Amino acid sequence: MLTNSVNNWRRTKYSREVKPEISGEEVTVMGWAHEIRDLGGIIFVLLRDRDGIIQITAPSKKIDKDLFENLRKIRKESVIAVKGIVQNSPKAPGGVEVIPHSLAVLNEYKQPLPLDPTEKVRAEIDTRLDSRFLDLRKPAVNAIFKIKSRMLHSIRLFLEENEFLEINTPKLVASATEGGTELFPITYFEREAFLGQSPQLYKQIMMSAGFDRVYEIAPIFRAEEHDTLRHLNEVISIDIEASYMNHEDVMDILEKLVVQAIKDVRKNCSAQLDVLGHELEIPATPFERIRYEDMIDLVNSEGVSLDYGEDMSRAAEKAMGEIMGGYYFIIDWPSSIKPFYVMPDEKNPEKSFSFDLMYRDLEISSGAMRVHKHDLLVDRIKKQGLNVDSFEKYLASFEYGMPPHAGWGLGAERFNMSLTGVNNIRETVLFPRDRRRLTP
Ligand code: ATP
Ligand code: MG
Repeated sequence: MLTNSVNNWRRTKYSREVKPEISGEEVTVMGWAHEIRDLGGIIFVLLRDRDGIIQITAPSKKIDKDLFENLRKIRKESVIAVKGIVQNSPKAPGGVEVIPHSLAVLNEYKQPLPLDPTEKVRAEIDTRLDSRFLDLRKPAVNAIFKIKSRMLHSIRLFLEENEFLEINTPKLVASATEGGTELFPITYFEREAFLGQSPQLYKQIMMSAGFDRVYEIAPIFRAEEHDTLRHLNEVISIDIEASYMNHEDVMDILEKLVVQAIKDVRKNCSAQLDVLGHELEIPATPFERIRYEDMIDLVNSEGVSLDYGEDMSRAAEKAMGEIMGGYYFIIDWPSSIKPFYVMPDEKNPEKSFSFDLMYRDLEISSGAMRVHKHDLLVDRIKKQGLNVDSFEKYLASFEYGMPPHAGWGLGAERFNMSLTGVNNIRETVLFPRDRRRLTP
């Protein structure tokens, strides 16, 4: 029967909770009609909800005639609710089935479906993203987001346990964090403003404000021109900043956080990892630390040309991915290719107290000890060809007791790629934004 509202129907169990142990109990399950198999005298309906699939088994001899006819009329991907009795059944998925005694069809579907959620027909990523709500119904797609949810949960727990306070900083900003090339300009009343490319300057100001350890999990916007499998124009950045710490201290925190999140995902998302066919290993610690200059030698020895002072090319990242596997740090970057707020080594200012965390050929985090001395900071801003005036409010916080500090930014999507094994960053965002895509 088709009803227009949920009325008195309420779910009592998710599919994953319908287990042989509750055989004989009455349950109400709700979701989509994933498959319907009509064998004449018996009808099987596979009902899919957020967590999985439960088989509804309707033998004509055992159930009401009208109900049997209504079950026969259900179409794939209609929204249904079924009330019935749980029964053991070694042949059914999960060893259990529900013998229905009432049915509500809560909504029907429009034909034909633009995308097949049962994955019998494989679709290209663009077609999938166009009909993302249907694409996300696929177990192997929503598994990525269950893992992302767990990952973020685990990261929050870890940071809270380590005395970090969650903060929120503005995303509408007056000027660039690190120079102007990657910014999206917007109209802010009668002025021009930009979408924030990083919370960097604000989290540093919070050190002067006395918050000691802060973190933020929020979107950053980058007007990346290129179209790659690892860049998007809007991503979630997990940022920390901590006072009285140096780069090594925050590298330790990052390493521990990564390992804890991996353990947590392995423990709580084993079904999702199975669906994805991804073997998630717990990495050995400490992660290897490779000095920038040794990285140059390593990639050169693989035939990739890279000179001291150059940022890593894609070819260099790939060569390092081949050599290193897993997670590893690249440390001691030249000051000239790191942002102005990165602390140069006093003994050799050409070098900086900075690091990138890599997973194979993918940079997943950048961090450093920061410059906390006002005059050195002004000097660094000028040297990088930036306008000191536009940093006035930021610089003020360095004149009245700024503690030494360090921090990093970890890309949530890139970290999620390393946890799920997907190789296109678009897979890790519900509604990705890239050079060509602004909808849905
Ligand atoms: P890349 O060199 O790979 O473009 P980046 O050095 O410009 O990255 P950072 O400014 O160091 O990036 O940002 C810190 C982290 O935020 C990166 O390590 C990455 O995980 C994530 N990130 C930054 N920009 C992007 C982007 N456009 N798409 C996806 N992730 C990003
Ligand atoms: Mg970086």
